[in-house]
Amino acid sequence: MKRVARVQRGADPHWVGDGFPVRTYFSYDQGPSISPFLLLDYAAPARFEPAPAPRGVGPHPHRGFETVTIVYDGEVEHRDSAGGGGRIGPGDVQWMTAASGIVHEEMHGRDFTRRGGTLEMVQLWVNLPARDKMSPPRYQDLLDARIPRVPLAGDAGTVRVIAGEFLGAAGPARTFTPIELLDVQVHAGRSAQLAVPAGHTAIVLVRRGAVQIGGRDVRATELAFLDRDGEVLQLTAAATDAQLLVLAGEPIPESVVGYGPFVMNTKAEIGQAIADFESGKMGRLP
Ligand code: MN
Repeated sequence: MKRVARVQRGADPHWVGDGFPVRTYFSYDQGPSISPFLLLDYAAPARFEPAPAPRGVGPHPHRGFETVTIVYDGEVEHRDSAGGGGRIGPGDVQWMTAASGIVHEEMHGRDFTRRGGTLEMVQLWVNLPARDKMSPPRYQDLLDARIPRVPLAGDAGTVRVIAGEFLGAAGPARTFTPIELLDVQVHAGRSAQLAVPAGHTAIVLVRRGAVQIGGRDVRATELAFLDRDGEVLQLTAAATDAQLLVLAGEPIPESVVGYGPFVMNTKAEIGQAIADFESGKMGRLP
């Protein structure tokens, strides 16, 4: 049975561009304990009034990893220099592989901007192993309808399988290394058991409600890092329904050298990434 190694709250909120008020829960300067993950930002529900032009973050590059955006409420529109793009809404996920490098923008959707509304989303950065860091970029639009919903035993709730597998249902995300990304709802007072391969990094973000894991309480907007031992993650929801995101993955045993939007294995590769971006080799937005 997995135990909680530590619980932490997000850092103070900051704005990504003018569209995303996020708290950062971890980033790559925390070292190998979070591998294969590099960064987690959570934008808790925030109200936006109607506006004449979309808010968001303008063109910026990435190299060496993947950005995974999960929208719970509102609408996010993306465009990148490799021709990828799309608009995702509640329940949808965008899995963007920057790999050798892209330039993209991340904005609120046009309809959402016109109407105003509540935005809630997560952005997760997933590292790539050295052999894949310079692969061509790709873009996966994982719409809610394609994400399997699996009932938990005993009517305890539901698991949406974004990546990896749960009770034989496979998530639609194609990943470079073994990753499980599960969006979990547990009804008030009920317990759920999830299997996570031993040795994988396993992290739980509680969005709503509270859960108990191995005797530790983890409350809304808290993040629990779990021990890598054990394969069974047992959680019990407190007196209200709990909504949480479970991320797990096989650690990548390689050095991590990051600088802003670039995450590589060496300082020289970071220097190369900056030079390639500045000379236009990561492309431009149309
Ligand atoms: Mn970005």
